[in-house]
Amino acid sequence: MQTTTYEFKAETKKLLDIVIHSLYTERDVFIRELISNAADALEKFRHQSLTAGDVFDSHMPLEITIDLDEKAHILTITDTGIGMTRTELEENLGTIAHSGSNTFLLQLVEAAKKDVNLIGQFGVGFYAAFMAGTRVRVQSRSWDGSEGHEWESDGSGSFTIKEETGLHRGTKIIVELKEDAHDYAVKWKVESIIKQYSAFVSFPIKLEGETVNTVQAIWTRNKNEIAEKDYAEFYKFIGNAVDEPLYRLHFSADAPLAINALLFVPKENFEVMGFGRVDPGVNLYCQRILIDQHSKNILPEWLRFLKGVVDSEDLPLNISRQSLQDNSLVAKIRKVITKRFLKYLDEEAGREPEAYLEFWKTFGIYLKEGMTSDYEFQKELGRLVRFESSKSEAGKPIALADYVLRMRPDQEQIYYINGPSRAAIEAGPYTEMFRKNDIEILYTMEPIDDFVLSHLAEFDGKKLVSADRADLSIPKGGEEDGADAAQNESSLDKGAKEGLISWLKKTLADKVADVIESKRLVDSPAMIVNPDGYMTSTMERVLSASRLEKGLLHERTKKNLEINFESPLILQLSELMKTDEWFAGEVAEQIFDNAMIQAGLLVDPLEMVERNYRILNRVIKS
Ligand code: ADP
Ligand code: MG
Repeated sequence: MQTTTYEFKAETKKLLDIVIHSLYTERDVFIRELISNAADALEKFRHQSLTAGDVFDSHMPLEITIDLDEKAHILTITDTGIGMTRTELEENLGTIAHSGSNTFLLQLVEAAKKDVNLIGQFGVGFYAAFMAGTRVRVQSRSWDGSEGHEWESDGSGSFTIKEETGLHRGTKIIVELKEDAHDYAVKWKVESIIKQYSAFVSFPIKLEGETVNTVQAIWTRNKNEIAEKDYAEFYKFIGNAVDEPLYRLHFSADAPLAINALLFVPKENFEVMGFGRVDPGVNLYCQRILIDQHSKNILPEWLRFLKGVVDSEDLPLNISRQSLQDNSLVAKIRKVITKRFLKYLDEEAGREPEAYLEFWKTFGIYLKEGMTSDYEFQKELGRLVRFESSKSEAGKPIALADYVLRMRPDQEQIYYINGPSRAAIEAGPYTEMFRKNDIEILYTMEPIDDFVLSHLAEFDGKKLVSADRADLSIPKGGEEDGADAAQNESSLDKGAKEGLISWLKKTLADKVADVIESKRLVDSPAMIVNPDGYMTSTMERVLSASRLEKGLLHERTKKNLEINFESPLILQLSELMKTDEWFAGEVAEQIFDNAMIQAGLLVDPLEMVERNYRILNRVIKS
């Protein structure tokens, strides 16, 4: 019979090399990987037989069989799952199933060097067989009944495929063990690995004729009957994890929809660790039958960090994976579960605020993503966000509800200001007025925060307002009485003020939209405010950076310059413009640039430095 030889793809060769030479200390996982593939194949078959009807070898029981040959040093894993056609053998076992193979590989190498436990997060997959095997054969026959084939390789660079007659449906993997791996043909050893890794596989695993696992769907069991240990084990199984989960929600509902869900929040956020976008980690079941693994449909995308299962008896068993996307029942389930999960987070935040802050630090970014991409859950998400504020401790963000509790009776809005750090915000001009009037202001320290808050727009009926808005008006008074009176005590009269303002407008004509007298500055001479009530300076900075990346020039909207007639510098300027207009112009430009920098906006550094030297030269001479 004809045998065809194929070369592995370059990245597959690299992966094989890593698996064989770097990961051998974690060898036991090869059994887990092969069992998990067998279980996947059985799940796929079960679903296929429900949707397609006519299947080959339909009488075969759905199970995994493991046979050991201690003398010949061979381990064989057989499943009666969906099987593979010739093309599927070639494609599935000749290339890496994961997306973005090359970057993935580099990450894998790095991760393996640092912490070999992290390997579980990727799943090394089928190639793990070469950790223990010198030669691996895969005999497979597809559910469609087409002729079976055998795939064979020693993992070094190529593989062969030839036709193999007389096979049953499913896949048999024959691993000829390396000399130092002979104990993988010893029963007690294999049994202990299966017990450790595969307790939750939902098909019987038969080791030399004896069933070694108890098939169970933990999520359908009564909460009271489930031990902590079982939950933790299940999490490790479903999340391919080695740690304990941070949070767990096990919830069941009968009406309006019958749902069983078991959701876990892991400890680590792999996206920020540089592993790229994570795949959704929740599987969708219907009456304990897997319908959609790593489902993109059962939860919103921004909850992709969750691991677990959702099972609903209301879904039709024979629903195809394609039709999940626009199925209205799935949409309803998604809504119910998302709301329930967000409510759970809110409860946890109330119960154990410190622990919730840990969650927020690690996964808050996903909730922020939810707020900017999904209007449906704004209200719930609004309760869950945390920001530092002028009245919070550094590093201890507060809830919007805490802010509202502390609001002054005459205060109607919630204020926030963005800046790179707490220190930078407090040193800037925007918080002066709030301090003076004893009004709390939130510090948003991530660029995305202003988008989040402008999407949220209000909380508890109170508008969220950025403190760099031009039309800001905040309640006056507070600790000090007569703050207002002091504001008007400027030594300039109305005419002088108007004179300076119109001169500034003329001098800075190509830079500012308007120059106005500030009613809120305390010490700073000037600040930039946004005439556009929606856009904050930070949002503008982010948008212009992203436009620049695309090679587009960003047309900056002109800002308003607010000036403080209390400031000695401004008072002096109104004299200087009469006696030395050139120098006054330099000072005005510098004040403008300083205010821009304090707003986090870009100025031309060369121009500014040159001007700065001109000013210094002038000062040093006089
Ligand atoms: P993954 O399981 O993450 O997709 P693997 O390397 O473990 O990656 O497997 C690669 C692919 O080979 C699988 O996606 C599947 O299509 C196929 N495969 C592996 N083992 C089996 C099996 N026992 N039965 C059917 N298909 C299999
Ligand atoms: Mg796999």
